[in-house]
Amino acid sequence: MSEDTQKRVPALDVPVEGLRASVKGNFAATVAELVELVAIPGIAWDAFDPAELERSADAVAALVRSAGIDDVQILRVDKEDGTPGGPAVVARRPAQPGRPTVLLYAHHDVQPPGDRALWKTDPFTAVEKDGRMYGRGAADDKAGILAHVGSLRALREVLGEDFGLGVTLFIEGEEEAGSPTFRTFLQTYRELLSADVIVVADSSNWKVGVPALTTSLRGLVDGTIEVRTAAHAVHSGMFGGPLLDAPTLLARVIATLHDDDGSVAIAGLVAGDHAAIGYPEEAFRADAAVLDGVRLAGTGSITSRLWTKPALSIIGMDIPSIALSSNTLLPVARAKFSLRLAPGQDPQAAMDAVAEHLRTHTPFGAQVTFVPGEMGQSFATDTTAPAALSALWAMGTAWGVEPVESGMGGSIPFIADLNELFPEAQILVTGVEDPDSRAHSANESLHLGDFEHAILAEALLLARLDADSRA
Ligand SMILES: [Zn+2]
Repeated sequence: MSEDTQKRVPALDVPVEGLRASVKGNFAATVAELVELVAIPGIAWDAFDPAELERSADAVAALVRSAGIDDVQILRVDKEDGTPGGPAVVARRPAQPGRPTVLLYAHHDVQPPGDRALWKTDPFTAVEKDGRMYGRGAADDKAGILAHVGSLRALREVLGEDFGLGVTLFIEGEEEAGSPTFRTFLQTYRELLSADVIVVADSSNWKVGVPALTTSLRGLVDGTIEVRTAAHAVHSGMFGGPLLDAPTLLARVIATLHDDDGSVAIAGLVAGDHAAIGYPEEAFRADAAVLDGVRLAGTGSITSRLWTKPALSIIGMDIPSIALSSNTLLPVARAKFSLRLAPGQDPQAAMDAVAEHLRTHTPFGAQVTFVPGEMGQSFATDTTAPAALSALWAMGTAWGVEPVESGMGGSIPFIADLNELFPEAQILVTGVEDPDSRAHSANESLHLGDFEHAILAEALLLARLDADSRA
């Protein structure tokens, strides 16, 4: 751990070495529990056996009880169509009087295995090889569940009744199916789930051996742009020249959405700079499979462009395919855009900014219509708040290296929901994955060394929050 992290949070009354020894002593048993969880193919998609999802919830409930928490329930709410949502495991250890409560989130459902031919081993038989555990859900997110359970076990062993923090475990059962009942669930069980700090163990570390706290997520808006030039199609030989076709004018509209650098050119959008972090241009080019000679767009560090600035892409177009093309001046063309939003950007304001941009960019006076689509909130952790500082301290202490404050270019919609429904809570996004974990893909795996560090980091974080609330 660098001096930097030590400075941020002075060492307090946390039995670091005792917790380290306890996590280490129990680690083989924790890994064995992970193997058992991976064997249950609990998938919340309609096409899969719902009995396995129930079995998965039951197994998680039993694990939680084994960590010394007796108040364990399996809860669900109905989807909009009246069918039941996935079974969530909710367990509580009440806070001692006057002490805060921490909500520990993970999910027990997993992605379908996909094409079995791509797997080198059976997806539901966890196999250890070269320090990694392979299997569907080994990382996403069954290891997240065990990071919670393992850390609580260590705290019980080392601190016993001295540990006064309230703990609520919330292990969702439908995350990989898009969390269809998440909001309703939070609204229904708001009181049961309310907490001062929320730990979401479903993200990634920076790389093997380097932990990360995910401190920001971009928001998202999308919509459709339609360009009309004529009441109907006409022959391009008879009319082409004085009149431009709709796809050509749509291309001109699209071209106004970025400036010559490739930065988003829509006025009024929030953009920020992320402190430069080790993501060299060469690494980005390799990760994104950029072809030789293609220049990168935007300005500032790569991580700023990925995490704290807007990004716009065209994700679909309605124009005839080449196979159906004819010598016609097409009168209408449509494009769907997707606009990633910087943390702190209000999605409605972004949508309004797009509408205003399109209103003032109408090449050749074409009729340009804008149909707004979906909106998703961004998220940002206050990294100067006590819980975030404690989390960074805990990661640095567990791994022995300075943690990265990492952004994420994508969104995790349920985090926006948590943020909205529990506005007072500090949300910490942690995780057990690394860039090689291949969550959702074939040969998903977990780095076992980092898994042990993640359990210890969570135990240290909880012990720290407990000690601070006692002080
Ligand atoms: Zn996940």
